[in-house]
Amino acid sequence: MRRRDALKLPLAASAALNLASASDPQSQVETEIVRLKLKHTWTTVMSSSDFRDTLHLRYTADNFTGHGEGAPISRYKESAQSARETLEGLKPYLNSADPRQFSKILAEVFRRVPGQYAAKAALDIALMDWTGQNLGVPLYRYFGLDAADAPVTTFSIGIDNPSSTRAKVEEASQFPVLKIKVGLDSDEASIEAVRAVTKKPLRVDANEGWTNKEEAVRKINWLETQGVEFIEQPMPAAMIEETRWVRSRVHMPIIADEACLHASDIPRLANAFDGVNIKLDKSGGMLEAYRMIQIAKSLGMKTMLGCMISSSVTVTAAAQLSPLVDYADLDGNLLISNDPWTGVTVLKGKLILPSGPGLGLLRRGN
Ligand code: MG
Repeated sequence: MRRRDALKLPLAASAALNLASASDPQSQVETEIVRLKLKHTWTTVMSSSDFRDTLHLRYTADNFTGHGEGAPISRYKESAQSARETLEGLKPYLNSADPRQFSKILAEVFRRVPGQYAAKAALDIALMDWTGQNLGVPLYRYFGLDAADAPVTTFSIGIDNPSSTRAKVEEASQFPVLKIKVGLDSDEASIEAVRAVTKKPLRVDANEGWTNKEEAVRKINWLETQGVEFIEQPMPAAMIEETRWVRSRVHMPIIADEACLHASDIPRLANAFDGVNIKLDKSGGMLEAYRMIQIAKSLGMKTMLGCMISSSVTVTAAAQLSPLVDYADLDGNLLISNDPWTGVTVLKGKLILPSGPGLGLLRRGN
């Protein structure tokens, strides 16, 4: 075969592929609301509940099925139902789109749909899972990361009475760092209950619980005496100036969570916070989370990956990016009793990424 003809072959093959994709339905999208049951009633400043409904998405094309999940955040007027309706409404577009063009698909969905970031996350995660399977590589490798760099995850202890708090801390014995929810009048009692049973480093999340900046300074300085590494979102998201004031009076790093939803939020947080907590359900998926991590790093900020109450689908998706970040709080799947999946696991607190292609998920019971 002459060299010129050999060069033509791949072009001819790709032209045939394009012809096939123009006429056949490219993909199938299915949505399902999944009720995740919590091991313990989950209480933060914002809410208290025994279960969470998440939206599961299956994206099938070329004999590969990518799985995605979104945990809707009611604060942003999202529900599992609204996430489902969003994705059902996008089906005519998604069914005819080529998943190899996942960036183009997601850009178009972000352009068409205001809000509904959990729905966008479910789509992004399913497309990335599909892409990894199609290429035969785990997603951490797709992003050029080393699984050995995955950090330790904290294990979260919800607000509870002192004796239940002690029991939860004992259950979390394999985790070297704990995350404690505060932000109520019982803050000192909660921390003292934890300190009664462990000397482990603690990270603390106030979930916007303190609205008075002098109170925030006082509590943060007290937390410093209790071996706390950092404080997450001490004041309401809108109180950026007040947080800047507080930051100038404490030593402990302050991490933004509720104040940091999307990439465009990060630059204005850079002088008020030391770092940002990025979640796929806030950003709208892995690609946006990756972009947020890079933007935060470029501004000299610490980076953290967190999660909502989710199955191993979302938590594994976040874990695939975790070799990039300073801190991980990826325990949402460990707080539920009916996870349909196995993916990322935890060994003495360290995140262990699965080796399979895409997310590397296996359905439990298979
Ligand atoms: Mg938080």
